[in-house]
Amino acid sequence: MADLKPVEAALAALLEGVQPLGSERIPCDRAAGRILAEPVAASLDVPPFDNSAMDGYALNHRDAGRWLRVSQRIAAGATGEPLAADSCARIFTGGAIPAGADCVVMQESVEIDGDRVRVPAGIPAGDNIRRRGRDVAAGSELLPSGEPLEAAALGHLAGQGITEVTVRRRPRVALLSTGDEIVDPGHPLGPGQIYNSNRPMLKRLLEQFGAEVVRVAAIPDDAEGTRLALATAARETDVVVTTGGVSVGEEDHVRAAVEALGELDLWRLAIRPGKPLALGRLPDGEREARFVGLPGNPVSGFVGAWLFLRPLMGALLGAPSLAELPGLAARADFATRTGPRAHYMRVRLEFGPEGITAHAFRDQNSGVLSSCIAADALAVIPPNREVAPGDSVNCLWLRGA
Ligand code: AMP
Ligand code: MG
Repeated sequence: MADLKPVEAALAALLEGVQPLGSERIPCDRAAGRILAEPVAASLDVPPFDNSAMDGYALNHRDAGRWLRVSQRIAAGATGEPLAADSCARIFTGGAIPAGADCVVMQESVEIDGDRVRVPAGIPAGDNIRRRGRDVAAGSELLPSGEPLEAAALGHLAGQGITEVTVRRRPRVALLSTGDEIVDPGHPLGPGQIYNSNRPMLKRLLEQFGAEVVRVAAIPDDAEGTRLALATAARETDVVVTTGGVSVGEEDHVRAAVEALGELDLWRLAIRPGKPLALGRLPDGEREARFVGLPGNPVSGFVGAWLFLRPLMGALLGAPSLAELPGLAARADFATRTGPRAHYMRVRLEFGPEGITAHAFRDQNSGVLSSCIAADALAVIPPNREVAPGDSVNCLWLRGA
């Protein structure tokens, strides 16, 4: 079994020489999930002025404990006058702290008598004031490059009044299916045929990983048609993904076509599911598209997408967070034993007070796609290992992008 290739070696070969794609400027309201191509600097302090964290009274802390006249009222959006001697300001959450005041006392804590109030003694300066620039200081880095723009980051951009950002162009991907038995939904199923479940599954995963699937097609079952389909796809895309027909030694057209058009490495990976994996390059003039040939079994395709397509998209997007799946340790509720190949088991994770438990799906066969639906993670059982219930196993988290 010396010719079994570890996942890490295959991944390194796949990512070799991959450079981040170019960038584009887009409106922030279309930037959700996109990857920042350059860091964004803050031009404003946030908050832009000292303001009240409470509904209450703004005063100078040295006046705490004395009766004070309520000399003005400052609602959010209003700016007050400097505080007169022996006075305080009625103020509301978000209202600008007037000059002369250095603390806010919440309304529930004051005594009121007509237009005068008394706050308890011993209030420290700064109490209940949100200081200008506490969240973001003008001139500092607001957001680093290479991170996906998720909810809080989008809020942060808006907090600066920013309306456009520079993001990485999304990798353009072609998704091509092989197999004479494969039929698209919407067409009747003949004897011996099955529907194409890989296509929507992989399209969704690729989009989740930040790609744009610009072409989906079935590869015709002849040498010339296959070569044409691959060459056309390579011309329009950064990555060409095929499913099926990469079993080692199989005499299939995809393999011959990739070899004729560019370079191909065909490997038996030391993993289960998903042993065969084909990686290659399809040159098109000065540029080239990467080629990834996933096995046809839907579960193998699912696992292969998480292990290979996600980091490839991460490298093309310049997004280090996509390079590796987050790992976490869980207690196995199952027993298993591996041979020469690592087993990537679909597991559901239960988060309990005692820690995390990994529940394995009973049927781990690579044809059983139902095992992927509720899978939170892949428990990675290294080669030649015996796992007993209660043992700790490393799990790769699948619920992120
Ligand atoms: P292959 O890698 O071509 O030998 O395919 C392995 C298994 O996956 C076979 O049972 C195929 O019928 C099945 N298969 C291949 N492509 C697909 C697909 N797009 N959707 C569902 N099953 C597939
Ligand atoms: Mg096939």
